[in-house]
Amino acid sequence: MDPRLKAQFTDKGIRFLLCSFVELAGTPKAKLVPVTHLEDTARDGAGFAGFAAGDVNQGPHDTDICSVPDFGGLAVLPWKKDIAWVPGNLHVNGRPWPFCPRTTLCRHVDALAQRGLTLNIGVEPEFMILAKDGEQVRPWDTLDTLSKPCYDLRALHRNLDLITTVVGAMQELGWQPYAADHEDANCQFEINWTYSDALTTADRHVFFKWMVKTLAEQRGLFATFMPKPFQHLTGNGSHFHLSLASAATGENVFAGEEDPLGLSQTARWFLGGVLHHARGLAAIVAPTVNSYKRLVRRATRSGATWAPVYVTYGASNRTQMIRVPGPGRIEVRVVDGAANPYLTPAALLAAGLDGIDRQLDPGPPNTANLYEASEEYLVSRKIDFLPATLAEALDAFAEDSVLRGALGEEYAAYYLAVKRREWNAYHESVSAWETDRYLLHC
Ligand code: GLU
Ligand code: MG
Repeated sequence: MDPRLKAQFTDKGIRFLLCSFVELAGTPKAKLVPVTHLEDTARDGAGFAGFAAGDVNQGPHDTDICSVPDFGGLAVLPWKKDIAWVPGNLHVNGRPWPFCPRTTLCRHVDALAQRGLTLNIGVEPEFMILAKDGEQVRPWDTLDTLSKPCYDLRALHRNLDLITTVVGAMQELGWQPYAADHEDANCQFEINWTYSDALTTADRHVFFKWMVKTLAEQRGLFATFMPKPFQHLTGNGSHFHLSLASAATGENVFAGEEDPLGLSQTARWFLGGVLHHARGLAAIVAPTVNSYKRLVRRATRSGATWAPVYVTYGASNRTQMIRVPGPGRIEVRVVDGAANPYLTPAALLAAGLDGIDRQLDPGPPNTANLYEASEEYLVSRKIDFLPATLAEALDAFAEDSVLRGALGEEYAAYYLAVKRREWNAYHESVSAWETDRYLLHC
């Protein structure tokens, strides 16, 4: 192994590695490895019983999966500087494991480089800070009760300890955070940091979620990225801002000076591809039963869900599935807090590239307030709905060969099997809503 890399560990006083990977749901797993075993871990990876680690398509009888670290994604823990987290790609018997989300993204990033392009992504993972009262979970700050809490100075101020600690940690990590705010639901926050290439952002996205949860737990609280924890409040989105750049010059190939939205023809075709595959994409970017409770237009306490319901795009209009907030990039707003940070960019890229290859025209931008659009308006414009349930999204994904190809046919089939089990478990459960509504009336 590169002696300079090895020296870095000694120079920085790093004593342990957290060799990490994520499974299908995006949940991070890890093993703690002392750096005295750096060389063999760098070569062979850290071993795990796959069946115990989550959805990686292994049975209890299978050979170990090994997370082979990619030191490019190394992050020294700002709150415990003798430990470094390092993301890895799964291997089995020395071969890349097709059921590894990070490996899937790496494959797409490499193929894109063959086209001379880089995918740049900025991500906006919203989260809520909660407290537990016995079995009951509630927004932690009992003074945070405004019906329009977005940007509230007092609520932001009451949370400064946690928020400034996270922002400070991001600065130490070199992510260049540039803003943090109270979002539209009570106890909901967002921290923005500078975009990077897709793999760097994906690694940071995983680390960010874990860091926010960890630093909240250290304060006796907990953080959730669950898409829709409370019916009456806006949910947790995780909007993805995408653009393609020339790998040689870094020039943004989505920028188009002549265009009213500031998009190039390439960007428009990419956009056309994302819209074309939107219904199947939902299965990846809004991957849980709960995701579809966020994608509604019924008003929340604040007056809007801010989440998309239709397959549309527009300029700086937050009722659209895709917003063009400024020149040279698109913001995909359907992605939520449960989306896998690696599979999401892989699927979005595959959809966008299909749009470029087939020159799919996105049509004119939509300017309406879609939360108030009438049935006639939707029909006259031939506006399609996003799936209303996970089951619908999975059916659309199953029929979309481009998206299945994005995961690889084997992984796509496994993804569908895991997610259909999840849907069936939900479908077979009887909720409080049902007993309240039907028990005494049927
Ligand atoms: N929380 C909203 C969502 O679920 C997004 C609010 C915003 O525009 O930042 O997507
Ligand atoms: Mg937001």
